[in-house]
Amino acid sequence: MEAVRTAAEGTTASNTKEVKAFGTEAADAPLNQMHINRRTPTPHDVEIDILFCGVCHSDLHTARSEWGPSLYPCVPGHEIVGKVVRVGGHVSKFKVGDMVGVGCMVDSCRECQYCQEGLEQYCEPGMTGTYNSPDKHLPGNPTFGGYSESIVVDEHFVLRIPDNLDPAAAAPLLCAGITTYSPLRHWNVGPGQKVGIVGIGGLGHMGIKIAKAMGAQVVAFTTSESKFDEAKRLGADEVVLSKDAEQMAAYRGTLHFVLDCVSAEHDINAYLALLRVDGSLALVGAPEHPLPVAAFSLIPGRKSFAGSMIGGIAETQEMLDFCAGHNIPADIEMIDIQQINEAYERLLKGDVKYRFVIDMASLKQ
Ligand code: NAP
Ligand code: ZN
Ligand code: ZN
Repeated sequence: MEAVRTAAEGTTASNTKEVKAFGTEAADAPLNQMHINRRTPTPHDVEIDILFCGVCHSDLHTARSEWGPSLYPCVPGHEIVGKVVRVGGHVSKFKVGDMVGVGCMVDSCRECQYCQEGLEQYCEPGMTGTYNSPDKHLPGNPTFGGYSESIVVDEHFVLRIPDNLDPAAAAPLLCAGITTYSPLRHWNVGPGQKVGIVGIGGLGHMGIKIAKAMGAQVVAFTTSESKFDEAKRLGADEVVLSKDAEQMAAYRGTLHFVLDCVSAEHDINAYLALLRVDGSLALVGAPEHPLPVAAFSLIPGRKSFAGSMIGGIAETQEMLDFCAGHNIPADIEMIDIQQINEAYERLLKGDVKYRFVIDMASLKQ
């Protein structure tokens, strides 16, 4: 590969390394093996050999352009855990051999009010997604995610994986963990509160574990009878089969907070009805189509309907340390990368307990 500038000269180094990846060329095409380019580390970059990558429902939404046209080729994956294999000359947080993680962001402007406050996910000009964002370093290319052999990321966006967390079971924390931890913290969930977690998939199962560890009384809402007993094992105090109107009615006006982690169309009004006066429902699930909300689901009871997106970098480290301290790994099913298309089909059926994690060694085969 040609080297136009050296890494020492800054972030415009255009020399790259070709690595194996798994991705798709179009919204209606399956994922297949391909080759992508990774930049040579600049002085603030860390090069990571990817060991494990979680499979988030957002990977599927994006690969299939469900939130609007995606950039192709699309290499998903934003629950990345791996080993540092190379660091730039100015890197101070990490060294070769460290076990590290990368979540949903690889860059932001670092200057706006939100970046200054550690809310890089709400960066005003916009954060750079780990995949499906224009790549500032390799103009004309999208960023490529963790379904790949390696990744190069500015150290500010790299997380430390605590020693006592199993690296594979820690991978889902990088998105599912922080996406549930951040709103639970923001809405001050804790002892004395009854909290509903809706949709027990990758996000929801982490939501149950984290809300419980924060001291709340947790009620899990599921459409899957097969998850009914298991939700209790995950930490739920009570479980509701949401298709059963009688079971739902028993919770009217009882919940302080609801975290909605559902990936598909469903009736939000049914959950707003379960809130107490002044209660809030935060949506983290991001279905393809709009969800109708009735005015009278909110007005009587002064209820709030809100949203939340992942979490900042400092907060993500705080969440990893919290999960390590409370011994909260994700419950995972390990797959080879060659099973990814089948895994997406199972995700659509809610058939995963509770997060697929790709053993990236399978990509090297
Ligand atoms: P997932 O593992 O597929 O879990 C989604 C769960 O939703 C399913 O397990 C199922 O739970 C429930 N569900 C699915 N279809 C349903 C339907 N038609 N009606 C009612 N419930 C249904 O997905 P995930 O990875 O946790 O992601 C969940 C959503 O969050 C996705 O839309 C994803 O894009 C979004 N997300 C948002 C952020 C953010 O920053 N806000 C971050 C990550 C992901 P039960 O079987 O228990 O009913
Ligand atoms: Zn995600
Ligand atoms: Zn910013």
